[in-house]
Amino acid sequence: MPGTGNYIPREQEIGLLGTWNAGVLSKRSRDGKAADRFMARTDAVVLGAGIVGTSIALHLVKRGLSVALVDRREPGRETSYGNTGVIGSTIFPAAFPSSLGRLIRAALKQAPEVNYHVVSLPRVLPWLMAFRAASSRERRAETARLMRPLMAHAVSEHEALAAEAGAMRYLRKNGLLTLYRSERALAELWTELALAAQFGVPIKFHDAQGARELEPHLAPVFKAAVHWADVASLTDPYAVTRTYAERFAALGGVVLKGDARSLHRAAGRWRVDTSEGPVDADAAVTALGPWTPDLLRPRGIDLPLAVKRGYHRHFALRDGATLGRPVIDMENGFALGPMKQGIRLTTGAEFADRGAPASPVQLRRVIPIARALVPLGEPVDDKPWMGSRPCFADSRPVIGRAPGHPGLWLAYGHGHVGLSLGPVTGRLIAEMMTGKVPFCDPAPYAAERFR
Ligand SMILES: Cc1cc2nc3c(=O)[nH]c(=O)nc-3n(C[C@H](O)[C@H](O)[C@H](O)COP(=O)(O)OP(=O)(O)OC[C@H]3O[C@@H](n4cnc5c(N)ncnc54)[C@H](O)[C@@H]3O)c2cc1C
Repeated sequence: MPGTGNYIPREQEIGLLGTWNAGVLSKRSRDGKAADRFMARTDAVVLGAGIVGTSIALHLVKRGLSVALVDRREPGRETSYGNTGVIGSTIFPAAFPSSLGRLIRAALKQAPEVNYHVVSLPRVLPWLMAFRAASSRERRAETARLMRPLMAHAVSEHEALAAEAGAMRYLRKNGLLTLYRSERALAELWTELALAAQFGVPIKFHDAQGARELEPHLAPVFKAAVHWADVASLTDPYAVTRTYAERFAALGGVVLKGDARSLHRAAGRWRVDTSEGPVDADAAVTALGPWTPDLLRPRGIDLPLAVKRGYHRHFALRDGATLGRPVIDMENGFALGPMKQGIRLTTGAEFADRGAPASPVQLRRVIPIARALVPLGEPVDDKPWMGSRPCFADSRPVIGRAPGHPGLWLAYGHGHVGLSLGPVTGRLIAEMMTGKVPFCDPAPYAAERFR
C-alpha cells in the first residue's frame, strides 16, 4: 500500500470492480427468491450531486472505479446552482464583525452584510462563539495557510475537468475585483495583501480611478480596489455541475435518484435505496452540503456545522453598461457576478435554520447600494433564490474518513468557497480512497480536528 508524506492510507477501502454491475446481483431477494427490483453493486456510491459530490464521482470514475452518484434532485440544483460563480477567493476567510459599531448594527438587524432569525440564535450561538474565536488576525492567517493547498489548485482543477467535459465556454479568467469604501477596511487589508505576496498570489492594488480602467461602469463610490488576477469565474455554475455530471455518465458512471438517508450497512457493504432499487457499494461518500448532518447525526457523527443562508437576484444593466468580472463590495457583503441570466446580485450571511421560510431582507438592503455602484435595471427573475452555505466555524471543509465508520467518507462544509473547491476536493478524496499519495496533506481537513 503506498503511503508517503504526512498521509498514510490505512487500508484499501475499496476493491476495484471497474465496471458498473447493475443487475449482476439482480432480481434476487434476501431469501433467494426472484424479486422485481434490481440490485446493483458498485465500488463507490457518492451521495449528493452538487459541485462537490459530482466532482468526486467524476474523479473516482476517471480512476477506473464503478460509481453511482445519488441525489434526490438533478445534479447541481441546490447550493451549487445559485452562487456568485467565483473560482478562487481573497486570502482571508470571512470573519465575525471586528468593530463594535458593525456588531451593534448587525444585532439591530440593520447591517446589509448579515441577518439572523432570533429563534435560531440559541442553536447557532456556540457556533458563533467558535467563529468569533477563529476570526482573530492570527487565526485567519493560519486558516489561509491551511487552506492554501486547496485554494492554489482551485482554478487548475476546474480547468482540468472543464476541458474534458466541454465546459470551458463557461470559464472566464479575468480575475475578481474587491472594493473597499472606508479607511478602516483599507487598514485591515494590508496584512492580507502581505500574506498574498508571501503566497505568490498575483494582486494589483488600485485607487477608484485605476479600478474604473478595468470596469468603466463602476461609480467611484469606493476608495480602493484589489484585482485578484488569478481568480476565475463561471458564467453559469449550474451548467458546469451538469456538464461534469454528463462527463461522469459518459465515462460509465450512473446518476440515480434516491434519498441518501436510506444509507445503511447490508451484507458487509453500504447500501442506499434508489428509484432503480438498492445499490451496494464498498465505499460511500457523503457530499450532501448543508444537508449532510441529516445523514450523519443519526449515525452518531455530529460535527458542528452551521448554515449561512444567501440570496440572489438577476438584473439587466441600464444604459449599455457592462460588467466584465465578479465584483465584491467587501463592507456591504454583497457581490455582483456577470451570468448568463444577467448580473447576479448575491448577499452575505443569514443565520437561520436551513428550512426556515426565506427572509430576503438583505437583498432589499443591498439593492439600492448596488444600484449606486452600477446601473442595475429591473430584476429579470420573479423572486429571489435562496441557498445555504454549509460552514464550519474554522472556515475549513471536512474531507476524509468518517471516524468509526470504515468505508464511509466525508466531503462537506466548504462554506463560501465550495464552488471553487469541488474539483480539488474530488481529486483529494479520490486519491485517498484509492490508496494513492494525495497531492497535499489532508490532515487539516480531517473530521478528527473537532474531537
Ligand atoms: C449566495 C451564495 C454565493 C456563493 N458564492 C460562491 C462563489 O462565488 N464561489 C464559491 O466557491 N462558492 C460560493 N458559494 C458557496 C458554494 O455555492 C457552496 O459551498 C457549494 O455549492 C456547496 O456545494 P455542495 O456540493 O457541498 O452542496 P450542494 O450544491 O447543496 O449539493 C448537495 C446535494 O445534496 C443533495 N441532497 C441533500 N439531501 C439529500 C438527501 N436526503 N438525499 C439525496 N440527496 C440529497 C441536494 O439535492 C444537493 O444536490 C456561495 C453560496 C451562496 C449561498
